[in-house]
Amino acid sequence: MDDDGGMTTPDATTARSWIAARRAVVEERLAGVERRLAAVRSARGDWIDEEHDPEGFALTFEWQQAEGLRAEHRAELAELDAAEARVASGGYGICTVCGQPIPAGQLELRPARTVCVACTDR
Ligand SMILES: [Zn+2]
Repeated sequence: MDDDGGMTTPDATTARSWIAARRAVVEERLAGVERRLAAVRSARGDWIDEEHDPEGFALTFEWQQAEGLRAEHRAELAELDAAEARVASGGYGICTVCGQPIPAGQLELRPARTVCVACTDR
């Protein structure tokens, strides 16, 4: 740990490793959601009257939930792409609100972050 309190931005190698680690997590979750959607899709195929069938309704709810998650994960992957572009262009790790470096601990948890916690809470 050489965290000096977040007064500097991480070097490109560190930033890229955080982004890659987070991308792996999100991609795995996305794959899990895709599997759930596929399972619900095949289960729903057996329900002719899903509107009036409580189990069909539950499947529809599960479907909507999974679709919401899928959209969330895809959005985060896009944010990670943007973060990687900022690593290349040099603006990575700078809060877009206060202009200060975002503390390393916050970036490690969410490497696509563009606003520091202090500004998010404000
Ligand atoms: Zn800030």
